[in-house]
Amino acid sequence: MAARDTPVMRQHADAKREYPEAIVFFRLGDFYEMFGEDAIVAAGALDLVLTSRNKGQADEIPMCGVPHHAAHGYITRLLDLGHRVALCEQLADPAKCRGLVPRQVVKVITPGLVTEDEYLRPAANNWLAAAQIDASGVGLALLDLSTVELAVVELADVAALLAELVRAGPREVLVGGDQDVAADVLPAIGRVLVKALVRADSSLEISEQERALDLVGEIAISDWERRAAARVLRFAQRCNPNTPLPSVRLIRWEIAEHLVIDEIAQGHLELAIPAHGDPETTLLNVIDVTRTPAGGRLMRRSLLAPMRHVPSIRRQLDRVEFFVVHSRLRRQLATVLGEIGDLERLATRVELGQVSPRELGALGGGLRAAAEAVALLEAQPEPDARQVLGLPSSPVDVVSDVAAELRRALVERPPSMPKEGEVFRAEYDSELAELSAMRRAGTDHIVALETRLRAETGVASLKIRFTRVFGWYVEVTRSQTDRVPSNWRRKQTVASGERFTLDELDDLADRIAHAEERHRERELELLRELVALTARASSRIRTLAMLMANWDMASALAEVAHRHDYCRPEVDDGSSIEIVDGRHPVVERLAAAGRFVPNDCRLDCSRERLMVLTGPNMAGKSTYLRQVAEIVILAQMGSYVPAKSARIGVVDRVLSRVGASDNLARGESTFMVEMRETSQILRNATRKSLVILDEVGRGTSTFDGLAIAWAVAEHLETVVGCRALFATHYHELTALSDSSSHIVNFSVSARELDGDVVFFHHVEPGPASRSYGVAVAKLAGLPESVLRRARSLLIEFEKRPAQEFAEGGEEMARAQLDLFRRVEPTTEAIEQVRHELQNLDADRLTPLEALALIHGWKRQI
Ligand code: ADP
Repeated sequence: MAARDTPVMRQHADAKREYPEAIVFFRLGDFYEMFGEDAIVAAGALDLVLTSRNKGQADEIPMCGVPHHAAHGYITRLLDLGHRVALCEQLADPAKCRGLVPRQVVKVITPGLVTEDEYLRPAANNWLAAAQIDASGVGLALLDLSTVELAVVELADVAALLAELVRAGPREVLVGGDQDVAADVLPAIGRVLVKALVRADSSLEISEQERALDLVGEIAISDWERRAAARVLRFAQRCNPNTPLPSVRLIRWEIAEHLVIDEIAQGHLELAIPAHGDPETTLLNVIDVTRTPAGGRLMRRSLLAPMRHVPSIRRQLDRVEFFVVHSRLRRQLATVLGEIGDLERLATRVELGQVSPRELGALGGGLRAAAEAVALLEAQPEPDARQVLGLPSSPVDVVSDVAAELRRALVERPPSMPKEGEVFRAEYDSELAELSAMRRAGTDHIVALETRLRAETGVASLKIRFTRVFGWYVEVTRSQTDRVPSNWRRKQTVASGERFTLDELDDLADRIAHAEERHRERELELLRELVALTARASSRIRTLAMLMANWDMASALAEVAHRHDYCRPEVDDGSSIEIVDGRHPVVERLAAAGRFVPNDCRLDCSRERLMVLTGPNMAGKSTYLRQVAEIVILAQMGSYVPAKSARIGVVDRVLSRVGASDNLARGESTFMVEMRETSQILRNATRKSLVILDEVGRGTSTFDGLAIAWAVAEHLETVVGCRALFATHYHELTALSDSSSHIVNFSVSARELDGDVVFFHHVEPGPASRSYGVAVAKLAGLPESVLRRARSLLIEFEKRPAQEFAEGGEEMARAQLDLFRRVEPTTEAIEQVRHELQNLDADRLTPLEALALIHGWKRQI
């Protein structure tokens, strides 16, 4: 019989056929084996020895395996590498089963659906996303099985989908819909979510959609949302074929209620994801001092999707203010919150039947701490405290029935596995108490028997002992064996002596073993009952957990405000942004800790709404732009802000474009990227948006860049009319303010001292007097001869009136060509230029510096 055709291999083939996208861990005795392609992939990924079944024969099958008790570590590594694992288990005990052991896939472990703590990040949701992309519309569904939330949202287009995906950061994305359209989008999703598993998922029949949606209940949702939700739920069910999914909480996400932060702005501002891998540099890292995992998740979500509804923002600010004012209460609450743990995810694990006795104990402790937090806040005497804190008018349900039961039932420190030790207090159950007594009595009887046998035989060194393999026995040293009565039976000879047993000991051993087994069974029964009782309360536990998460976030924001001296912003529906002494929340803590220079900002749609910010490189332009956007975002999430005072007229979108060099890693033509992103901004911005443009036009030659930057600014100003900050090294753009009263020039101050540049980081009205590019070039180590020539050229350039630039680049270009014609080449000069070119770091040059260099070289040769 060919190897592939054995009954076992047929079972494997069935499992693989059903789950072709997963690596099948096929249980054979104490091992999980992998076969065929799976074995090759897994052996490579996990450093396993690749062997084969039927070695040397024509139908040899590659194979590798891992011990089942160590599978966890291997699975984690495979998940990290973006694989899915299907666990194909033995459904019966091979020892008790005749013929072929039945085997079946009981669970597919996939990054988007893990619920075990060890696979999850505490302070981030674990989303599995499904996108439904049709020519007529786009829907997105996000499922977090660990918190049983299902969020659906309808989106205008693929760009909006990408922004939402970046915001949520799912670990896995299923993409389906009109085939061509959806297939086109896959690479784009892969590009913005580098770490996620992104797969096409085309297998969804209409009938299945309907069935899957029974789980969703009765919220009105659009067709695309429905299909996306069905896709995600069906996949979750397929991965857990034997467990009914817990009922999910459906949340319909309304884009219009939230401040949309486009995909590039999320990265540029380093809200939650660091640009260069150091997590310290994110805004989230500064503000997330929450004490519970659910609070951390809420903080992250609130930061990435701030609000737009002014009364809601003010309500949140009131709550933060309450905790700012009541600092003692805030500290007490923090201590209590520290004891709560992850009630939200524990509730799910209870529902899925995955909870360990230790976790049940933690859940009980968490519930008690939550009750303490509620008592603490309910005791606040202020008349408006209840309302500010979001306390319902009736007493909060602290799920005390379950908490009390868990406390009554469980020992102080329950083990992580039921087998490892006693789970229940003996007095919890009368049968358990009896069995415990029997076990204890059994041991007492053994001691008594030992004493008696010593007396009867006269062997003082006689011992009664127990091992797992041999059970109970009497051990006598070799020299004393002749004193052993003849009715004792010899069991084993060991180095230290002889081991015996006798009827009386066997009876006793039976009674103890029986009591022990029954004790274990009874504990398992009680455990099942306790889990079921707790599971019935899971949605009540979640409601309580959410209240805790809200307090946790609000008190954390208050703590941050207190520590770092933030102020309460005024938020309204107006069209202005007025910040006095604003600071960058991250730069003030890291790069410029202790010496950060605060700056004001004043923008108003009906007055000065577009700020052109000039100043030398390294002056602080980018920091300033980002700090304004981050203050707006913090204010709209209901947080205090790093400033002396701030008034924020609510913003609908934060859109951003960053200097090209940062995007080089994406491997696209910088110019193309830059223009595509810029056009996206121009299309999406509304009058209520805040646009941040940092050095637009950098990715191209000077005059193209200048012309484009000019046109973009004009469009924002005349067509969109939004609030915008435009940082540029094109000094020429300062002439824009001549054409519109809505455009205003600001600059970041610096002084040149003996050819060196000194930065003051202070943003002041008026254009920068000069770009200091040459002085910065000196900092970068350019040779003195080049710097000299650059300086003289600069003087030449600065003689030309700004208007000349405004009228277009051509005249300027001609003027420059005239300059170039004056020079004559020599070999020595050419060598010199070659030398300089070789030693130059082109990536660190601004266009002006480069221009200066080129002029220098032109002149030399
Ligand atoms: P630019 O965009 O003008 O090239 P950046 O905004 O990148 O400059 O700032 C360069 C560095 O200057 C920052 O990393 C920071 O250390 C420092 N800096 C920026 N703004 C300030 C400020 N307001 N106060 C103190 N230091 C600052």
